[in-house]
Amino acid sequence: MKNGKLCIGFIAALALVLAYVACDNNPSGEGHNHDWVLVEDTRATCVSEGINKYVCSLDSSHIDIRYTDINPDNHNPDHISNKNISYPATCSTAGSGYGKCEDCNTPSVSFTIPINPTAHEWYDEQRTVEVSSWQNGYTATVCINNSEHLKNVSNLQWALGSDNLEYELINGNEYRVKLKGYQYNSYIYIYLPIIERVREARIIL
Ligand SMILES: [Zn+2]
Ligand SMILES: [Zn+2]
Ligand SMILES: [Zn+2]
Repeated sequence: MKNGKLCIGFIAALALVLAYVACDNNPSGEGHNHDWVLVEDTRATCVSEGINKYVCSLDSSHIDIRYTDINPDNHNPDHISNKNISYPATCSTAGSGYGKCEDCNTPSVSFTIPINPTAHEWYDEQRTVEVSSWQNGYTATVCINNSEHLKNVSNLQWALGSDNLEYELINGNEYRVKLKGYQYNSYIYIYLPIIERVREARIIL
């Protein structure tokens, strides 16, 4: 109980301080509580301060600008020269390298290279996968970096779905599924056939 009273007293004091500050920052003296909206959010870099600019939604002449300290580790990746690539980007992983920051003249700063969606690396041999209840069948050239990246796909067969289910496509994007049989004391896995290429189909049991 004592704590509760103390706490309320503290909040009341804080509210008074905030009211005073709001009044003090209000050049037109209209006496409203500012409703600050962040309109500029520039991160600090290795050579410049960050800027957070707020404008009051109730009166756009009320402006509050706050600065954050220079961040010596945030170099602009577009201002790096003498680039050396340590690891090139692939279709699945980002790459990295190092070079000189032209802004702050630090001789060796690291940078990352975004994933390059077209930088595949292909196995020489084609792979054939047999169609099954849960897996599409195909013959294709497979990417070394990601086995889901395929090219030269032929003999594509959509996964068949589980044997003990019946499917009915309704409304163009929903399936009604019926169990043909039921086994007590056992788990069954249900794999849906891909009758059409409908993403996020809803299943009604
Ligand atoms: Zn205001
Ligand atoms: Zn720099
Ligand atoms: Zn790939």
